[in-house]
Amino acid sequence: MRIANLDGRLALITPEGAIDVHRASDGRFGPDPMSAFDDWDALLEWSASTPAPAEPFDPARLGPPVPRPRQIFAIGLNYVRHAAESGLPVPTVPLVFTKFASSIAGPIGEVALPSSSVDWEVELVAVIGREAREVAEADAWAHVAGLTAGQDFSDRLLQNAGSPPQFSLGKSYPGFAPIGPHLVSVDEFADPDDIGVATTVDSEVRQDSRTSDLVFSVPQLVAYLSRIVTLFPGDLIFTGTPEGVGLGHTPPLYLSDGQVVETSIEGIGTLRHVMRGQR
Ligand code: ZN
Repeated sequence: MRIANLDGRLALITPEGAIDVHRASDGRFGPDPMSAFDDWDALLEWSASTPAPAEPFDPARLGPPVPRPRQIFAIGLNYVRHAAESGLPVPTVPLVFTKFASSIAGPIGEVALPSSSVDWEVELVAVIGREAREVAEADAWAHVAGLTAGQDFSDRLLQNAGSPPQFSLGKSYPGFAPIGPHLVSVDEFADPDDIGVATTVDSEVRQDSRTSDLVFSVPQLVAYLSRIVTLFPGDLIFTGTPEGVGLGHTPPLYLSDGQVVETSIEGIGTLRHVMRGQR
């Protein structure tokens, strides 16, 4: 199943276009995109019946598929080569921070640059499907509804301003957590632990890796986090970014006015954002 937020309403996405879930289900599901997580299994089952004709749509109408997550977890230094380019050791436990919920944005749009030190980070985002508390690694995928693409925009100077550095604020300006274009259920992936992730800036490939290189896999993260906190349906886990960020260059490469960042995840789609403000 592939779902999206179309004009603020829950939509089922097919190769032909979009189906409004609330109308096509006679009110059983939707219209709020967050209601997809009220009964994910029932929605999955309903979606398999090809409930109504799909209509073509302009992708610019898409919003974030999970507009109001209760909790957002993000993982730092979760690819071996990215830890190396950051000059830091590979973590032995997940390095966890948050992107505050006001930074959530849709898959297409503009990002106002607050400074001249904003960097890119493609990330696979896991969306929790059922409440998870002390979940074993072997049971973890069953607690994930699906996967979406995320971009963890990061103001490096703010991120590293303190000692020790704290990550959350520098990654939480408005628009710094775009997700989408669709939320794709786990069963759609041939191997959900091996998915291609990439970023281009002005069509130049900057990041191109696979989630099989994660230090801590999605099941390991769900198991680890759920030993400490309760995970709720609709919660997001930004799973970390691979090598190729601007900070890894000498001197660092940061985003500037007019640049176009495209964030792609295999089997999910591409986010497209135009940078505005800093030259
Ligand atoms: Zn990140």
